[in-house]
Amino acid sequence: MGNKKIYLASPRGFCAGVKRALAIVDATLEKYGTPLYVFNEIVHNDYIVNSLQNKGVIFVDDLYNIPAGSNLIYSAHGVSKEVEAAAQLHSLNTIDATCPLVKKVHVKAQRLSDSGYKVLLIGHSAHPEVIGTIGQVNSPITVIEDISCVEKLEYTSDTPLAYLTQTTLSSDDTFEIVSMLQNKYPNIYGDNDICYATQNRQDAVKSLSNCCDTIFIIGSEKSSNSNRLNEVAQKMGCDSYLINSVNCLTDDICHNLRNIGISAGASAPQCLVDEVVEFFQNRGWDDVEEIFTVEENIKFSLPKV
Ligand code: SF4
Repeated sequence: MGNKKIYLASPRGFCAGVKRALAIVDATLEKYGTPLYVFNEIVHNDYIVNSLQNKGVIFVDDLYNIPAGSNLIYSAHGVSKEVEAAAQLHSLNTIDATCPLVKKVHVKAQRLSDSGYKVLLIGHSAHPEVIGTIGQVNSPITVIEDISCVEKLEYTSDTPLAYLTQTTLSSDDTFEIVSMLQNKYPNIYGDNDICYATQNRQDAVKSLSNCCDTIFIIGSEKSSNSNRLNEVAQKMGCDSYLINSVNCLTDDICHNLRNIGISAGASAPQCLVDEVVEFFQNRGWDDVEEIFTVEENIKFSLPKV
């Protein structure tokens, strides 16, 4: 193992759901032009959001000021039925960029609820995906953020219980929560809904940690899967930093760095990775090696816009 080498995680960056959501925005812009409204950030990445704003896309978190007849895209994280109903009421032309893997969780949650289960959703209550999933189901869903939430559950052992998960969680943390749920409720039914992209990027970062002391995860603060990658790297014993872009790096940061690992969250574009690699190449990290863990070839088809 050399001393000043860059190791790039692969897979990293855009997942199929993000590519699909961005292609939907592009196709809608091309067909209808601006103004184009998007409910919530289309994906959680500042660079992407700023670039789209520069093209005339308007991001909103309520529908009140959108003129009737406007085009509105739902973000990759999905929306509640309440938002869908409000869009209809305001006569908006809606285009759904919800990731198909998030949609799958919506359908499953409703089915479980219809079958009489009390549904638990492991995830972060303030995240748009969780808000959307809760809002897609006709009966109440209990959010389990961490193990303390499991301790507080007061269901009796014969209550039909089922759990689902947010798609972008840490697989290790989720395993811990699920084990605790299964201990407390041995008959609980459930599935891990962490998506392939989240899992693959976490596995790739674990592989990086075998070659590096320091890892930079490119992704925005709001990005759930990017934050989880940063935590995975830290738990593997690396110094790890979540950075928005090369602008977060200074010459000072290079002191005492040896081998560097770089990965990117599922909403971070490759151009941001290239700029970070170039930053270090200009400072003596000439050697770049990609660490492949798994090949991804998942693609989602586009809806008609
Ligand atoms: Fe879909 Fe997973 Fe990408 Fe989220 S991270 S958009 S669930 S593929």
